[in-house]
Amino acid sequence: MTDHPIVDPTGHTPAPAPAPPGPGLGIFDKELLDRCISCGFCLPACPTYALTGEETSSPRGRITLMRALEAGDLAPDDPTLAEESSFCLGCRACETVCPAGVEYGQLLEQWRDHQWSGPNRPWIARALMALVSRPGLLRLQGLVRRHARGTAKATPSTATPAESVPAQSTPPATAGPDPAETPADDSSGQLSAGQQVSLMLGCVERGLYPGVSRAAQQLCPEITVPTRQGCCGALHAHNGDSKTGAELARTLGEQLPGTILTTAGGCAAHLAHHLGRDRVRELSEYLDAKGHQTVGQVTVNGRRARAALQDSCHLRNGLGVTRPPRELIAAVADYVELPSAGKCCGAAGTYAMLRPEDSKKVLEPKLDEAEEADVDYVVTVNPGCLRQVQQGLRSRRSRAKAIHLAEFLALAARSAPEVPPSGNPAQR
Ligand code: SF4
Ligand code: SF4
Repeated sequence: MTDHPIVDPTGHTPAPAPAPPGPGLGIFDKELLDRCISCGFCLPACPTYALTGEETSSPRGRITLMRALEAGDLAPDDPTLAEESSFCLGCRACETVCPAGVEYGQLLEQWRDHQWSGPNRPWIARALMALVSRPGLLRLQGLVRRHARGTAKATPSTATPAESVPAQSTPPATAGPDPAETPADDSSGQLSAGQQVSLMLGCVERGLYPGVSRAAQQLCPEITVPTRQGCCGALHAHNGDSKTGAELARTLGEQLPGTILTTAGGCAAHLAHHLGRDRVRELSEYLDAKGHQTVGQVTVNGRRARAALQDSCHLRNGLGVTRPPRELIAAVADYVELPSAGKCCGAAGTYAMLRPEDSKKVLEPKLDEAEEADVDYVVTVNPGCLRQVQQGLRSRRSRAKAIHLAEFLALAARSAPEVPPSGNPAQR
């Protein structure tokens, strides 16, 4: 039994959470599993616990299940194990409030490696993993990708950085409201001058949202786009194959020289875990670190647009990046902080496809908030979130639109008056 006193801030009686005696079955990293002190501080942060109020649907309850599985007290085919390993969104909100430093995301990966191995993996996840693992199919998506690049030239992975486009003269960023109080942000690391930056195109993004990559290139003309790049492996890691997930991350790290820039918060967190935090930058933190000056503003019917952010769970909870996207939005529009901005939207990788009903239950209150706040845009920093919020807003015929941050900033820049190349326009 654990020596730690059990305190439950929710008032629920926690299920006993014994650490497995002896070495256990080796499914989990024992040190990670033992870290939980069953305090229950994570319960109010958990979206699935909020849906059911059941201990087994909470982080602490799931860790209890993991311990029972590890100890051999629950049969591997126990239905509660199957249900709860699938019901968890993997949003990692529980990690941000845990006083014991439990790396729940790592535990969930180990759980699914066991629970979803081989034929037990949901077929949708299997199909998607097969799709992104095949270079030929990714090349097909590359047809779309070339469209995304517009006239910009792709560079091979061994090439030197693309020729820089002369920077456009930019008016000072418009001051916006103070961003809401958010967790600590570790994204203030500066980039070395002249450091090569490679844009990661992303499997979902190159197929569904090629305009996001194009917008990122418009904002950051100094970046290169290596032609050969595979999947980062986050999809595999979150769906029961963390070994392949790690291998794909390492391979992508070799294909993309220098700093890897990504427009997907989920991919950023996965790559940072395997390649090191210094190798990876998500777009908003990259723009923040290089002192990007926004251009123009987003308007709707002649007035400044009202825009909210939907955080990416893994960007926020895994990498602690919260301030940069808010400040960038506030620079080009009137920023509105939705109460649930930092909570999962229900996309959660394959979750929206595997558990559409639960995914919808997680999403709906967020859409209500967006409509009540009368926002024009919900800005996202991850393609999965973009798809989820976009579909949700469309299905209720909301006037609010979902948009990726890169495209939102590019939209603002298009509104700016053209700056003459040189001299005083009045004299010409
Ligand atoms: S995961 Fe962390 S917050 Fe949750 S019960 Fe365990 S120690 Fe407490
Ligand atoms: S990852 Fe998210 S859904 Fe899963 S236990 Fe943690 S807070 Fe709950």
